[in-house]
Amino acid sequence: MVERNESEDVPLVLIVDDDPVVRTIAGEVLATTGFATLEADSGAAALEEVNRSLPDLIVLDVEMPGMDGFETCERLREQEHSREIPILIATGHTNSATIERAFEAGATDFIEKPIDWNLLRHRLRFLLRARNAISDLHSSRERLASAQRLARIGNWEWVPGEGQMLWSEEVYHIFGIEQRAGASTYEALLEAAHPEDRAAIDKAMRGAENEGEAVSLDHRIVSKSGAERVIHHQAEVACGPGGDPDRIYGTIQDITDRIRAQEKIRYLAYYDGLTGLPNRRMLADHLGRVLEATRRREGMAALLFLDLDRFKRVNDTLGHAIGDELLREVARRLLECVRQTDQVSRGRRSGAKTVSRLGGDEFTAVLPELDDPSGAEHVARRILETLRTPFNLHGHDIVMSASIGITIFPMDGANTDTLISNADTAMYHAKEGGGGTYRFFSESMNERAMRNLRLEGGLRMALERDEIHLNYQPLIDVGTGGVMGVEALLRWDSGEFGQVSPAEFIPVAEECGLIDSLGEWVLNTACEQTRRWQRTAQPSLKVAVNVSSHQVRKPGLVEVVKRALASSGLDPAQLELEITESALLGNDGCVVETINELKQMGISLALDDFGTGYSSLSHLVHFPIDTLKIDQSFVREIGEDVQAGAVISAVMAMAHRLRLSVTAEGVETREQEEFLRAEGCDSFQGYRFSRPLSPGDLEAFIRGDNG
Ligand code: C2E
Ligand code: MG
Ligand code: MG
Repeated sequence: MVERNESEDVPLVLIVDDDPVVRTIAGEVLATTGFATLEADSGAAALEEVNRSLPDLIVLDVEMPGMDGFETCERLREQEHSREIPILIATGHTNSATIERAFEAGATDFIEKPIDWNLLRHRLRFLLRARNAISDLHSSRERLASAQRLARIGNWEWVPGEGQMLWSEEVYHIFGIEQRAGASTYEALLEAAHPEDRAAIDKAMRGAENEGEAVSLDHRIVSKSGAERVIHHQAEVACGPGGDPDRIYGTIQDITDRIRAQEKIRYLAYYDGLTGLPNRRMLADHLGRVLEATRRREGMAALLFLDLDRFKRVNDTLGHAIGDELLREVARRLLECVRQTDQVSRGRRSGAKTVSRLGGDEFTAVLPELDDPSGAEHVARRILETLRTPFNLHGHDIVMSASIGITIFPMDGANTDTLISNADTAMYHAKEGGGGTYRFFSESMNERAMRNLRLEGGLRMALERDEIHLNYQPLIDVGTGGVMGVEALLRWDSGEFGQVSPAEFIPVAEECGLIDSLGEWVLNTACEQTRRWQRTAQPSLKVAVNVSSHQVRKPGLVEVVKRALASSGLDPAQLELEITESALLGNDGCVVETINELKQMGISLALDDFGTGYSSLSHLVHFPIDTLKIDQSFVREIGEDVQAGAVISAVMAMAHRLRLSVTAEGVETREQEEFLRAEGCDSFQGYRFSRPLSPGDLEAFIRGDNG
């Protein structure tokens, strides 16, 4: 193919005529006007010459032997190189049929023969100018299209209300829609968008259409293959002469890569590449927000700072690859652990940002919405326990332990930095204690934690050492004034600690798992004792036994109760189990089943300490509760605080409406007794009638009462 030198600004005209005279004159006339000319004596010669020399203009005679001018013109238009070249047809017949034929063949203009040479010069100049303008337009359109392609920008135009829109090539490309007539509709544009984003786009477009508002929004599109991309969509409204929106011009740009890059940068800045956990910076952000929220609630939060014990040894002996894998596995276990605890304690799922890795073998866990510091202790123990299971990595069984430091907000620090650094200090104390353990930053909390640890040790031996027994406190029937039943209450006379209150040692037993065996012992003992009293003192005596929420949540309680009833021979109707509202929280499936099964056995259920926890009406409605025990903190206030009295009245009315019987706990004074009696209380329990008594004293009490 011939390359034309573009810098040559002398336009080249190809004269196609079978008459050599015409060709010669044309050549001379045009040369004086600043054109260069070429000649072809037939249509066939013209077709060849065009490919060789790429003329700017063609003057084509119609009447030629062989291929005539019309056919030549058609053939020129079919050839790639001459498709766009202006063609001036010279014809002796200027009737409309001939002119029509010339245009159909693809001619740009025509001139009458014999040729007016002066006119030809001007015609050609005009044609050339028009051609240049068109080719400029062409190339700028192409430049725009390629710029749009590169930038992945497409543009569209729309007259609202019309079905069709005008889309540039790139719009089709971005939307992944095939370019064909009728494809570019407003519906198709909406359809290309992610289903969840369509409403927003439509709303923005309506705003443009009706209010003339500019559109600017990012939304997703979904390709046929299901891949999602992100589009920045902008549009502006052009108003008609009346000032009303009349046409909307929009651009769409594929910004997926930019968004991904931003996400990546964010990820690198805020997450730890090895474990995928948040890093120190994210921890600071997150903790800052948690503290802010906690401050507003006037609540409590904790930070656990964990460092693996002797991690360096793993790296040194087994290599960094295994070290890295171990860290990943630790991260996984920590997350799992915190999530589980979270779920158990609060009945909801979070944990996404709770665990972070600060670097090396240091991790942290943030515990928001803490009810009291022992919640943090609970998580720490759980983590230590989780890590105790050996890690199996590439055939190596690795046993790990960790040291954990705990800080409590707001007591141990008012801001993130102080809390982190104090938790770090506490962690060092745990390390100094030999590792594999936890320490609070605060000394008083440590003392409590240490005492709990010692209590735990003592409690493990207590049953064997016969330090545990039950006392019984009478429940007085308000109507008759007689003893209707007793509540069994645990007592621990420890050789080491003296008398320990159940309020102190039951949480310890719950924490370390001793509650199950202890609870079973209580049930057996209380049922047997009551059965004996039924024979010797009062046949209708009922017994109330406290069960911990831990017992209710775990499967197996029903079996334990069945065994206690079977071996003692106690009638289920004479056993009442006291549960607290916390047992009913959370969505452990087995709670509902357990409660219903116990109920079906004929056992009654009491809700203990009502008014101190959630005091949720829904618990009363949804669970088959028989008795409500109003907490002693309310009873104590009777006569002192008008509100407490009002609360009791309201609770009493509500309970009776739900056909629950009401027991008042902690009745100590005559005033309290009279108030409660007037409110319709069903039974009393309290020092006014009797303290919890040893079995011997209780029997005497019943006899005295009866006799
Ligand atoms: P609770 O079930 O609400 O038991 C009533 C508590 O109030 C008992 O405390 C009782 O001694 C005390 N009390 C009774 N009348 C009065 C009074 O007039 N004035 C005052 N100030 N106190 C009175 P206790 O025996 O120290 O038990 C504390 C808590 O320990 C119990 O509260 C119960 O939640 C738990 N507990 C006791 N025994 C067991 C048990 O066998 N299993 C379980 N899971 N928890 C138990
Ligand atoms: Mg109780
Ligand atoms: Mg109570």
